[in-house]
Amino acid sequence: MTRAQSGPQTREELLVRAAAYAETVDIDIDTDTIEWTISERAKRRAGSCRYDGANGQVTIVLTWDAYRAVGWEQFTGTIRHELVHAWEFTHYGESGHGPRFRRKADELDAPRHCESFTDGRLRLACTDEDCSWMTERHRASEPVKYPDRGYRCGDCESPYVVEHVDSGLTWRTNSGYERVRDKLGEDW
Ligand SMILES: [Zn+2]
Ligand SMILES: [Zn+2]
Repeated sequence: MTRAQSGPQTREELLVRAAAYAETVDIDIDTDTIEWTISERAKRRAGSCRYDGANGQVTIVLTWDAYRAVGWEQFTGTIRHELVHAWEFTHYGESGHGPRFRRKADELDAPRHCESFTDGRLRLACTDEDCSWMTERHRASEPVKYPDRGYRCGDCESPYVVEHVDSGLTWRTNSGYERVRDKLGEDW
């Protein structure tokens, strides 16, 4: 906790400071139009970037607990990382962690991976607030496709939620899975 003391103390301050910090980052995007929000629920990712292809709106989601854990200095790396996603979305309509992303991330001295998790395409996370169980999958295995078919958290046996990492879309049932597949199409 002490490491966070010199940085923003409230969620509101964190949002204001992050937006102000983004202005100082040397990257070709209109940082004024980015929406900044806080996630209380994300457990494994320090931040994420969403893009609405219909209107071009970029939203960067910051995880409060991650900020509190690492402090402002290190958290600016997360902000730069998410700005690279924003840059890819705005210029190319898509974003991942490929060569183009890595080159830009290196330019900005940003971490190449979303902080605090590895690069699995699919993530299963326990729905119990007090349980930190999480695992990753690269392919659509049975537990990914049928989370409602009796599969459970590996630690506490609660239900889990599956997330498609790149899009941030989640599901807890097979019909939810089917909807996400349809929605993503080639972006799956
Ligand atoms: Zn990322
Ligand atoms: Zn659990």
